[in-house]
Amino acid sequence: MTQTLDLIDTRRRDALAPARQEKPHLIGLTREELADALEAVGVPERQRRMRARQLWHWLYVRGVSDFSEMFNVSKDLRAALGQTFTIARPEIVEEQISKDGTRKWLMRFPPRGAGRPVEIETVYIPEEGRGTLCISSQVGCTLTCSFCHTGTQKLVRNLTAEEILAQLLVARDRLGDFPDRDTPDGAIVPAEGRKVSNIVMMGMGEPLYNFEQVKNALLIASDGEGLSLSKRRITLSTSGVVPEIYRTGEEIGVMLAISLHAVRNELRNELVPINKKYPLEELMKACRAYPGLSNARRITFEYVMLKGVNDSLDDARELVRILKGVPAKINLIPFNPWPGSNYECSDWETIERFADYVNNAGYASPIRTPRGRDILAACGQLKSESERMRKTERLALEAMMNAGHGEA
Ligand code: SAH
Ligand code: SF4
Repeated sequence: MTQTLDLIDTRRRDALAPARQEKPHLIGLTREELADALEAVGVPERQRRMRARQLWHWLYVRGVSDFSEMFNVSKDLRAALGQTFTIARPEIVEEQISKDGTRKWLMRFPPRGAGRPVEIETVYIPEEGRGTLCISSQVGCTLTCSFCHTGTQKLVRNLTAEEILAQLLVARDRLGDFPDRDTPDGAIVPAEGRKVSNIVMMGMGEPLYNFEQVKNALLIASDGEGLSLSKRRITLSTSGVVPEIYRTGEEIGVMLAISLHAVRNELRNELVPINKKYPLEELMKACRAYPGLSNARRITFEYVMLKGVNDSLDDARELVRILKGVPAKINLIPFNPWPGSNYECSDWETIERFADYVNNAGYASPIRTPRGRDILAACGQLKSESERMRKTERLALEAMMNAGHGEA
């Protein structure tokens, strides 16, 4: 059964909101910035590095969200930090749990110039041997890919590094994925190891149009003395912002996924309009230059299957041709329809035929099985409160999906 927990009563929440004062957040700061914060509360210079290391450990290894839990930090310093800064988690407005174990959280962040608080969704997908968290980088998107629901929403604002990391911290809180925490009864999580073992920047927004904040967040997520996620288990998905692909390779070093979706410029201009600025040739050149590629470290090419649009064998052939020489995985995504979308998902046989062709050409090409359908957690359907569907729309979409395609 789908389970929905409305964690905070809306009226109470709205009544409380205006009273809340925003203090600067310590999550998302670099070590140097953390040392500056310690300076601001009077920690002498000779202690700053040691104290910064202590804080880092509490924030990212132990996952505390209240200064009072930092036992080896003096009471006075805890009080001084608490007066000036915050380490609180964002508000979780709603948590939904699908019957297949997929979880979706609706989180609320302060306006930060956007006029009103913003809400974003984060999705957790447990599988055998791994647990993947799908993280958002922006509220809305400036780009307008024609098959993507997020693309119909204007950009409301970029998320800060703190807000990007908060999605990971909240998921780890709720799954008991910090030391000395319990996993909730009945939760579906990997049998061994971390509950959140992988992250993908595949939620709302174009991460490379929020480069600095995404970079800071991912460098903290992969820091070996803190959250310690291997860069090989972090994947950043981009629609193809070519200059920032080079920078991602040099400055972040995580795995790359490219939202390809079409293999000819004419069609890609229509589906992924950023292609007009950075056409396929330039995109593929940046991919070829991505540092550290090998058979064990391949770029993922995402390809949404749109009936009669990009799903012919001719497209499959051209795909294999343009990927020649790039260590690549191809991720075929059954199109997730949304109310008002102009596309249909390809038939299952067509998807299989396409997958067989690229498999035979030597590329792994898993077809992404839709997960968490009952809680609408699929790609391209993450959205903010302002765009939440009316109940009737939701039911129509669920019916369409249940009748539909994709599941073997
Ligand atoms: N903006 C980034 C990351 C977010 S989108 C990007 O475009 O790569 C994550 C993936 O879901 C992208 O490959 C996107 O093209 C795909 N997607 C968007 N809408 C979809 C839909 N309705 N059905 C299936 N996949 C979709
Ligand atoms: Fe933005 Fe990615 Fe959606 Fe395109 S597919 S509109 S880049 S979120």
